[in-house]
Amino acid sequence: MNREQQSRLMAEAHQHMPQGVAENYRFWGDERTVFVENAQGCELTDADGNTFVDFRLGYGPIILGYRDARVDAAVIKQITEGGTLSGFATPLDTEVVKQVKALCPNVDMMRFANSGTEAVMGAVRTARGYTGRDRIIIVEGGFHGLYDEMMWKADVEGWRPDSGTEPEIIPFGAGIPARTSSLVDFIPLNSAEHLAAVFARYPEQIAAVVLEPIMGNCGSIAATPEWMRLLRETCTANGTMLIVDEVKTGFRVAPGGAQELYGVHADLTTYAKAMGNGYPVAGFGGRSEVMSVIGSHSGGVVHGGTYTGNLVALSAASATLDILTNTDALATVDRVGAEIRDVLGRVFTAFGISHTFAGPPAMFGIHFLETVPTNYRDWKATNHPLYERFAWHLIGLGVMLEPDSREPWFICEAHKNVDLGWLEETCHTAMQRAVDEQARQ
Ligand code: PMP
Repeated sequence: MNREQQSRLMAEAHQHMPQGVAENYRFWGDERTVFVENAQGCELTDADGNTFVDFRLGYGPIILGYRDARVDAAVIKQITEGGTLSGFATPLDTEVVKQVKALCPNVDMMRFANSGTEAVMGAVRTARGYTGRDRIIIVEGGFHGLYDEMMWKADVEGWRPDSGTEPEIIPFGAGIPARTSSLVDFIPLNSAEHLAAVFARYPEQIAAVVLEPIMGNCGSIAATPEWMRLLRETCTANGTMLIVDEVKTGFRVAPGGAQELYGVHADLTTYAKAMGNGYPVAGFGGRSEVMSVIGSHSGGVVHGGTYTGNLVALSAASATLDILTNTDALATVDRVGAEIRDVLGRVFTAFGISHTFAGPPAMFGIHFLETVPTNYRDWKATNHPLYERFAWHLIGLGVMLEPDSREPWFICEAHKNVDLGWLEETCHTAMQRAVDEQARQ
């Protein structure tokens, strides 16, 4: 694959940005970092003119397709006829919340944010303000944005399953104050024992449990419906807020997100990504009684920000939500996702590779293991090194994805145009190369 322009761009960018990229996760090494020239539908073109069918979709926001003409037209109309922001209320604020509420019965009231991180920060602060407690519980393998106390993780990669110990809790990197770790505790997904133990250990101290029921940052490994019900009951019994982080699942896995699939309602929910088909919009919402703690009254939770509810974001959200409500876009995503899973399954079977898929068709994980992993610890037993080889060969053949099996395959409406015969052949070639490479080592 020609990389002449991208090598030049990489060398230049190194002089101006750490790692030569705008944020850490885009750096794939000097030889592999992708510089995108344009995106359309489900395809990306890089600066050297190489094209890719994209299953990474910018980590999930694209639900319709890149440059969706319907959404772009709504944004252009807004910015040319109404403007981008004024720092005042607008009628569109309420309109978009009403659209969200029509799809998500777990939301009575909502506030906007500019990123998933900011939405989680708002939801957690609201939970703390409402309960008067500080401590939060998060699930191993979950990801909730880049802010200090959420930047701790269970070191499953460095953990030995036969050690009889729990994974160590480590920071994502430098710059995270050690004392922020004292506010968070970790439990593995689907563990009734760990859930009971942490509540027993900190009676009346837990403000919130924050989780992705379908872990969009851990190969779509999913909670069982029974465990979700147990979690809901445990939170209710302890006066703890259940915060469901639907930044990846919201408006994607079902119109009402993961909560629609589970029939479990959170006290607070965070949204971003698919809500705006790539425009930077986010929000958090939930029960009226809880959300009403936000405000300027004494004891109120402060929430705000210059770009909050800006009209680029809200016009995109309004158009996207309108399409998701009134067309069969999500049904198409489900159908196409299932077909693509079938293609992949046939290829893995042809090579005799034990495999399972986790999560729904709109956002599925691939695990080279006999049984579906039930939590992050199980992921460690998967043959993820083989997956990584397969992924890198796919990228070389024009299929873009994250070369880490903890990142799911994302499907958008525009994938309905993918030639599945081509995809199957390409996956076959990539797996042949991966298997050959593995045999040589
Ligand atoms: N929560 C979840 C579940 C996410 O997947 C992400 C981002 N991948 C975030 C929060 C943070 O969102 P953002 O990158 O928009 O800040």
